[in-house]
Amino acid sequence: MTVRTRFAPSPTGQVHIGNIRAAIYNWLFARHAGGQFLLRIEDTDRERSTPAAVQAVLDAMAWLGLNYDEAPVYQSTQTAAHLAAAEQLLKTGHAYKEDKGGTGKGECVIFRMPGTDMSFRDEIKGDLVKKAADMKDFVIVRSDGTPVFHLANVVDDLHMNITHIIRGDDHVENTYRHVALFRALGATPPKYAHLPMIVNAQGKPYSKRDGAAYVGDFRAKGYLGEALFNYLALLGWSPGGDRELMSRDEMARLFTFDRVQSSAAQFDLVKLLWMNGEYMRALPREQREAACRAVLQERGLWNDALPAGYLGRVLDAMAERIKLFTDIADAGYFFTEDFAFDEKSVQKRLLKPGALELLAATRTVYAGMADFSAAATEAALRELATARGLGMGDLVHPVRVAISGTAVGPSLFHMLEVFGKDRVLRRMDKTLEKFGHR
Ligand code: GLU
Repeated sequence: MTVRTRFAPSPTGQVHIGNIRAAIYNWLFARHAGGQFLLRIEDTDRERSTPAAVQAVLDAMAWLGLNYDEAPVYQSTQTAAHLAAAEQLLKTGHAYKEDKGGTGKGECVIFRMPGTDMSFRDEIKGDLVKKAADMKDFVIVRSDGTPVFHLANVVDDLHMNITHIIRGDDHVENTYRHVALFRALGATPPKYAHLPMIVNAQGKPYSKRDGAAYVGDFRAKGYLGEALFNYLALLGWSPGGDRELMSRDEMARLFTFDRVQSSAAQFDLVKLLWMNGEYMRALPREQREAACRAVLQERGLWNDALPAGYLGRVLDAMAERIKLFTDIADAGYFFTEDFAFDEKSVQKRLLKPGALELLAATRTVYAGMADFSAAATEAALRELATARGLGMGDLVHPVRVAISGTAVGPSLFHMLEVFGKDRVLRRMDKTLEKFGHR
């Protein structure tokens, strides 16, 4: 039997990370088994399933590298098959018609539950059972002739020959009905794996209120699709050992349901950021530079007159401070003379008694230097500190704020080297003037 899984989102707006994690697990399991991974767009909610919502699903999948094996199935095109299945159920006595409100507006089709306890084996949660008394017959075709979710979902899975249904555990209650529908249609139900949900630090379902919750949010913030894929795959599944950074193929090779945890998984942005930083560093330079350049262009910080290789030198200086492409925008002072001064940094570092005088003294020393390498500017500052009986920090902090406007940033001496002597002196002069040192 060839394994066939599917991702079956209802496109209603943006794609939540919980949903895309289900897609990732479907993909991993299908690839692990050498089977097929399919996409079905459950677009029967005509009002909410806009072309933009469908596009958001397709974009999210492409960005994460979730390639699927056959043309996507649009549920809205399968109505005839859904209604034919309802007819079959009526004929075999598994369904009946009823004029629900007695309004004469038309009859709906109701599925007759078998009247026995229902059970199925979940690949993650184990055996699940529901008592006959807790299950009622349910509508499968509305009085206006439209099929209901349960019918459409089951009939499509049947026609697509899906062997494993991997989805969020908010569907567990539906599954008892779905199993009954499969059997009534003369089919063996597929295997089920229900994923525990993603929760926030308080153990509540992770939502927009907790921060970025949609795939598009992460993309816009400058995350890498590979990093988000890796992070979400490990959010609830463990390959064993303490391996964390893995390629899609490695994860597919190792993926099994018995290592999917059955309790909720807590979303940890700090860990995702760390992981993204690791992926950023592993990228080829050109790719990292191109993505950072795009961010700078978008924010109006890019200037075509910058010397060749300049961005590369900035990124080297920033090194592990860049965990996201968009982090480059925090270092806008590398790209414009018109950078802002952070008020707190100014108060603490520049306007502290004596700081401007030390800045002026440093300026004099730097003006007389021919070699402006990081090593040279550091040695010169050390000499000045020793001569004055001061710590390095007394000199470093005012210089940093003077040339970048902020007290946080990469190593000062690398920054000085990237800026170059002329620019450093100009900025120091401007700052001394601005803050009143004569
Ligand atoms: N479209 C439904 C959802 O997104 C069905 C999911 C499924 O059966 O996998 O919740």
